[in-house]
Amino acid sequence: MSQDAVKELKEELFYNKKNGLLKVSEKEIETANGYCEGYKDFISTAKTEREAAKLSISMAEKSGFKPFDRNAKYKAGDRVYFSNRGKTVAFAVIGKNGMECGTNITAAHIDSPRLDLKPNPLYEDTDLALFKTHYYGGIKKYQWTAVPLSLHGVFCKKDGSTVEVSLGEKDGEPQFVINDLLPHLDKEQSKRTMAEVIKGEELNVLIGSMPFKADEGSDLVKLNILKLLNEKYGITEEDFLSAELEMVPAMKPCDLGFDRSLIGGYGQDDRVCAYPALTAILDVKAPEKTAIAILADKEEIGSDGNTGLNSDFLYHCVCDLCYALGGDVTVALRNSCCLSADVNAAMDPTFKDVSEPMNASLVNYGVVLTKYTGARGKGGTSDASAEYVAKVRAMLDNANIIWQTGELGKVDAGGGGTVAMYIANLGVDVVDLGVPVLSMHAPFETTSKLDVYMCYRAMYEFMK
Ligand code: MN
Ligand code: MN
Repeated sequence: MSQDAVKELKEELFYNKKNGLLKVSEKEIETANGYCEGYKDFISTAKTEREAAKLSISMAEKSGFKPFDRNAKYKAGDRVYFSNRGKTVAFAVIGKNGMECGTNITAAHIDSPRLDLKPNPLYEDTDLALFKTHYYGGIKKYQWTAVPLSLHGVFCKKDGSTVEVSLGEKDGEPQFVINDLLPHLDKEQSKRTMAEVIKGEELNVLIGSMPFKADEGSDLVKLNILKLLNEKYGITEEDFLSAELEMVPAMKPCDLGFDRSLIGGYGQDDRVCAYPALTAILDVKAPEKTAIAILADKEEIGSDGNTGLNSDFLYHCVCDLCYALGGDVTVALRNSCCLSADVNAAMDPTFKDVSEPMNASLVNYGVVLTKYTGARGKGGTSDASAEYVAKVRAMLDNANIIWQTGELGKVDAGGGGTVAMYIANLGVDVVDLGVPVLSMHAPFETTSKLDVYMCYRAMYEFMK
């Protein structure tokens, strides 16, 4: 056989991976760059699940979505949404086929790792005022010191009113910080293991230093802070007991690299898939099957709770749609398919040894199809069927969407999960499809513009 024939045979038989940027046209790269401007705006505005839900609903309402009404009559092409306590939202575009033909569901999450204030957070020590926090989701605690933080959330008062808080995002607004020990005095700290370099109870946020002007008395800095909070938000210290306040990185998203091909920013896991799922369903007009895009809360802490996808929320949405449109919910779910839109770990050139190169996802190689996540012997995952993976594979290739496969690290290197298994438990076919990320769960995460755009294209192709 000639060298050329061998080469030809290899091309025919081998699975060839190639950098997506070498496969697409200049025009498509430009389209991807343009799309990501909207994405950067989204993640700079929506830094918590509440803010992401609110912004998504306002974008959807502009695109004709209305709150679902159990007693309304719906027809193909109608656009509805279900808001679950303002933290999880499901958007649906009614399909031409009945509910029993099944639905096409995309599911991303809009909560991200962060630092929640404790119910009783405020104290003064060494003439400084601080907040005690309890971290939310999997974080490397040391990464959260000495970076600017902003405060987001709500105070819910006893009279039923809610006060929204967002401080540290707009130009000129004050920000907050967790102080770290100086290297000159870290002899003891440096002996700690990585997990304990900064301990959970050391994640205390500096919030002020100005004492209330008085001749004597203790806690005058704390008193002055409460006076300011009372003037601004009408709250007292007791109102922290029924608040949800979150400290998040205050940095704005930005382009990364001389070539601007990458995006840096907080909360990209998983708003980097939530924004594509959202914008895709906004672009869906008259699908054959009813399309549903769900943006969920609580994924980072295991999806438990009534706004997580381990609740019956999605099941109840499908029940409601069956009630309004007709059809049996069991049949509807059994015939439904889902893309669990969540991120995967991209192979990092500096930490290659946690990845298995044949099965790791790479930045710029497109949206990642992850057949299973989990840990150890595939514990804690839904492991999509070969039949369903074949269907999704065909869909992606037929639409010329750049995609790759991925595994969450080497076998036994660690692991993780997504919402996929909770949706699979409803009898739905599910596979993970999302964007590869570097520095996942760090205060500042990295993605590629091409991958983000390919995620949008995949979500649209699936639901259209
Ligand atoms: Mn995620
Ligand atoms: Mn995560």
